[in-house]
Amino acid sequence: MVSDTATGATLREYLQSLLTSFFPNRSASKAWEKFHIVVRHLRWIFMAYIKIGNNSTLEVPSNPTIGYIEGDGIGPDISRASISVINASLEFAYGGDRSIEWVKVLAGEEALNKTGKHLPQESLDQLKKCVVSIKGPLTTPIGQGFRSLNVTLRQYFDLYANIRPVKYFPGVPSPVKNPEKMNMVIFRENTEDLYMGIEFKYDSPEAAKMREFLAANMDVKLTDDTGIGIKPISKFKSSRLVRKAIQFAIKNKRRNVTLVHKGNIMKYTEGAFKEWGYQVAANEFKDNTVTEEEYLKDPDNYRGKIVIKDRITDNMFQQVLTRTEDYDVIATTNLNGDYLSDALSAQVGGLGLAPGGNVGDAYAIFEAVHGTAPKYAGMDVANPTSLMLSGAMMLRHLEWDDAADVLENAILATYHDQKVTQDLARVMNIKPLKCSEFGQEIIKRMKPVKS
Ligand code: NAP
Repeated sequence: MVSDTATGATLREYLQSLLTSFFPNRSASKAWEKFHIVVRHLRWIFMAYIKIGNNSTLEVPSNPTIGYIEGDGIGPDISRASISVINASLEFAYGGDRSIEWVKVLAGEEALNKTGKHLPQESLDQLKKCVVSIKGPLTTPIGQGFRSLNVTLRQYFDLYANIRPVKYFPGVPSPVKNPEKMNMVIFRENTEDLYMGIEFKYDSPEAAKMREFLAANMDVKLTDDTGIGIKPISKFKSSRLVRKAIQFAIKNKRRNVTLVHKGNIMKYTEGAFKEWGYQVAANEFKDNTVTEEEYLKDPDNYRGKIVIKDRITDNMFQQVLTRTEDYDVIATTNLNGDYLSDALSAQVGGLGLAPGGNVGDAYAIFEAVHGTAPKYAGMDVANPTSLMLSGAMMLRHLEWDDAADVLENAILATYHDQKVTQDLARVMNIKPLKCSEFGQEIIKRMKPVKS
């Protein structure tokens, strides 16, 4: 069983358990247990799920059931704090008219202990039923044959866009002079590139076969000690990622979209990503976009249009430091996006504050971008901001922007008042708050939205 409501129980099963509980032939504690099952199943009857409508649009009820994976290590601490602030933001924004029915989904070490599997099928089924979920960090099991649980989730639900907004929070210590210039959103392709794990160890028979094939058919000669990795980049997957980035830019009135690639070296993968990106903009968003080349020739003529530009990855790493304010939405391949998103987060104070969402056409899982920080497990000292902000992203995904505004504004106010957890307190030389106390400080600073 995944959780209270993840049994996949049918109405018949519910009625059976109801009847059994009325005719107990058991001890008091067993009867109590039965009573709880009935209450849980009663709750199940009233649960409302998000539906996927035409064109993958979401039909969100006023009390949707949202799945949450607590996560390993610091996961339970930051999940508890995050759920309490998300609930409070809903109360402030909608005064009880909208709420979330949270359902816990087992994954990671807790799932292994209870079910013998890190990610049981019931958990995948439950996440599917919920459509939208949130997760704490999960330990990547060490040892051969294990795929990261995060990668598994992304591939299972085809969550092809890893979306990472990076913005500065005044009051947070940063390694750069003007961190406030940063306000970017990265769209990182999540399903292909070197992350598909097509790799052959240098001394494996597969690598030998590949080398022989390349020598015989492609005139490519590799020495016998060469390991091989394959980098697939497709037109379909590149195009849908860029499409999502441009749609976001239009919806959120952003200024430009930069295609980041290493196409000068990898022409038919990274270079093709850039070409396909420009094609999507020209073919599907002609009225809203203009290429940088056209724009620079006649800026006045193109005011208000989203400028589509591209940058080679190495240049982009220095541009984000030297010309931070020139960049806005970024669309890039998997490996580039991995490097770039952590580097950008560092510019505004580190991963502890960086939110993320893995989003497909319909399904979405929002997550903290840092790991399980095992040395702080169960100590109530971790910084929950990353997961809380991922919660705000989730609220926006549900189009519950008022609640997202309440939450983000309260987090901003908390940082402004220099109320921080130990990761930042030690740099700022001030007294740290516990993870749970930090959550309470955020709730204290929540204000209803102005209508
Ligand atoms: P990590 O868990 O992110 O922790 C590295 C260090 O970052 C911590 O020791 C701590 O630094 C700091 N840190 C991270 N999150 C923090 C938070 N919320 N509050 C305060 N400090 C925080 O990275 P890791 O040690 O490389 O990975 C540990 C495990 O997490 C691995 O099993 C890895 O596979 C997994 N992981 C999971 C995800 C995911 O589920 N999305 C992502 C990354 C890693 P100080 O020691 O300086 O205080």
